[in-house]
Amino acid sequence: MNHDVIVAGGSYAGMAAALQLVRARRKVLVIDAGLRRNRFATESHGLLGQDGRAPEAIFADAREQLLAYPDLSWREGRVASAVRSGDGFELRTEDGETAQGKRLILATGVSDRLPDVPGLRERWGRSVVPCPYCHGYEFDRGPLGVLAAGEVSMHQALLIPEWGPTTLFTNGAFMPNAEQLRQLEARGVAIETRAVGEICGEGASVRLADGTVVELAGLFVAPRISIQGPMAAQLGCELSEGPLGAVIRTDESKATSVPGVFACGDAARFMGSVSFAIGDGAMAGIAAHRSLVFD
Ligand code: FAD
Ligand code: MG
Repeated sequence: MNHDVIVAGGSYAGMAAALQLVRARRKVLVIDAGLRRNRFATESHGLLGQDGRAPEAIFADAREQLLAYPDLSWREGRVASAVRSGDGFELRTEDGETAQGKRLILATGVSDRLPDVPGLRERWGRSVVPCPYCHGYEFDRGPLGVLAAGEVSMHQALLIPEWGPTTLFTNGAFMPNAEQLRQLEARGVAIETRAVGEICGEGASVRLADGTVVELAGLFVAPRISIQGPMAAQLGCELSEGPLGAVIRTDESKATSVPGVFACGDAARFMGSVSFAIGDGAMAGIAAHRSLVFD
């Protein structure tokens, strides 16, 4: 075994895990493909002490501090496979390199699949966003929209009026029933059932298929998520299914159902944020360390 722990994914969760482990003088290899989920956003919000900073700046500072520890190795690349090998695991990257570790931490995040609406993807992370806690404040009280992705958007539509007057665009993805219409009305949500043609303008205004434009400062969309990398499936980690996709199931110490494998960050929780990814990563790092000491 040439490493105590291999961390797949070197973003917020993976780096937070690695930091705890190198500070316990363990040999850690981080393998990272470098495509963080919030790379489309120019500012990151809601992380204590870093509010409003560029995601790249937060990442660069964290990585520099981590690389100062001699027990930390960093490899740029994408893990293509993970198998059990002896008392640990062997990973192979897409470029054919291998690495062995006694424990494995999966911190590869998730990828987002957006509804296929013209103009949406170009605005992702700026005026089209998934989370009001991250970006709602900057829309300066609206007007705001929710583009329905299914029944799950009901919850979003009831929440978003906290940040500004809200319109729910059902767009064929979801039709509220009588009780849901009553709830939306009680929250002052306008309902637009005409088809969405495109997203346009400086903010995220919606041009309906009939040409009508609804001016918006920001639009909220719940993307479908997929766990990145095949490792959880290859190792047989149990998943938790949610309305927008699955994440890796863990216990409170971020241990997966497979002994020796931990998972943290967006790959292992619904509703991700940088703060949660860092907290979960620290937990996974400490739990992996304790399992090296005690198991
Ligand atoms: P990620 O940051 O997604 O990192 C995963 C890493 O693993 C990436 O570097 C990736 O390339 C790598 N990877 C993937 N597969 C492999 C593989 N096979 N091998 C090796 N490496 C791999 N949260 C906030 O708190 N504040 C915000 O303002 C905010 N804004 C957001 C804006 C947008 C548009 C989106 C989509 C999300 C935003 N978030 C925000 C949420 C935040 O981005 C995530 O919660 C956070 O990035 C999760 O961290 P993570 O380390 O789990 O995963
Ligand atoms: Mg990570």
